[in-house]
Amino acid sequence: MKYFFGLILFTFITSLIGFQIQTDYRKIHFHSIVVDAHNDVVGRMMSGEDISVKTSHGHSDLPRFLDGGVDVQIFSIFVSPRQPAKEYYSIANRQIDAIESFIKRSDGKAAFGNSADEIKKLVIAGKFVAMLGIEGGHIIQNDITKLDHFYKRGVRYMTLTWNNSTSWSTSANDETQQSGKSKKKGLSKLGIKIVKHMNEIGMIVDVSHVGEKTFWDVINVTTKPIIASHSSIYTICPNKRNLKNEQIRAIAKNGGMVCVNFAPFFIDSGFAAKEKLMLEKNKERVDEFRAQQKNDVKLKEKTLSQFLHKEYAEILPSVKQLVDHIDHVAKLVGIDYVGLGSDYDGISVAPAGMEDVTCYPKITEELVRRGYSESDIKKILGENFLRVLKHNEG
Ligand SMILES: [Zn+2]
Repeated sequence: MKYFFGLILFTFITSLIGFQIQTDYRKIHFHSIVVDAHNDVVGRMMSGEDISVKTSHGHSDLPRFLDGGVDVQIFSIFVSPRQPAKEYYSIANRQIDAIESFIKRSDGKAAFGNSADEIKKLVIAGKFVAMLGIEGGHIIQNDITKLDHFYKRGVRYMTLTWNNSTSWSTSANDETQQSGKSKKKGLSKLGIKIVKHMNEIGMIVDVSHVGEKTFWDVINVTTKPIIASHSSIYTICPNKRNLKNEQIRAIAKNGGMVCVNFAPFFIDSGFAAKEKLMLEKNKERVDEFRAQQKNDVKLKEKTLSQFLHKEYAEILPSVKQLVDHIDHVAKLVGIDYVGLGSDYDGISVAPAGMEDVTCYPKITEELVRRGYSESDIKKILGENFLRVLKHNEG
């Protein structure tokens, strides 16, 4: 009997704790300024999709951002280097036009935020704040004055390289390749000028995608805090796109931050092999799906991960594994140097439970469960980014 009452008491207390976490995390999440540093949905906008209304596929749209408690989204301006080089600049400008027209269509729900102070005011006024970041320095076509143009249009960071190098900086992809391209050139004289100019005008230098040589050159040159807008942790998942501990220490010393990328490939070192095996096992179905997709308009919108939903569910990393990356930075260098850079709509598949932008509260839930204080969680969710932005303005 004693045992029975003990069990009831235990169940009551644990469910009470569960309930407490449940209410606490939602309160904390929706009372924080949630900033995500990297989202690629602009690609969908350029295909004519209207994300001011709910969409049936992809990861992001305005109603879903609001559901997920996202207050500030930095939209990535990305032009594939396979496009003709002379068109990089004009395509980038058309992408900014598309974001401007999205804001116009939002019925006053969304607005551009250009400074940390303005962003805070807009969030308090209940707006969804859009910001811009350029992904890939090739967009400025070796012309420093184009940085000024983009700054005026609202661009507040530039990722120096994408997977391709520029004539003035080498990418992680090229620096780690075994071919002739692998020379670790880092920043050239022009590259140093570009970084200094970005510091001057208040455009944050973003080191996601850059090679290690470029990274260390940036650290030596920059006078303002830098970011990695969408990179995760190399110690947990050794991928050339992730950051090693000495890089994370250097970013912290510089006053910058790491915005953790949600891509399963960057979160879980075993994911690529697991996916390969799973796709081999389901080869017939995958081939059939791809053949059908070519002819069926509706199926075109469906991703392979949606089609093989059950199979993916078994191999995807969890929210806990994602939060391990945040935890790692916080434990290594402190709470002030970590944030979020999902890469939603740029990644083909997201961790289990993190299917789209409505899922951000789950990160907060996990942080609460791990004992992070409310003020620490607010830093991770957005305050760290606003601090870095503010330091770049001054
Ligand atoms: Zn990227």
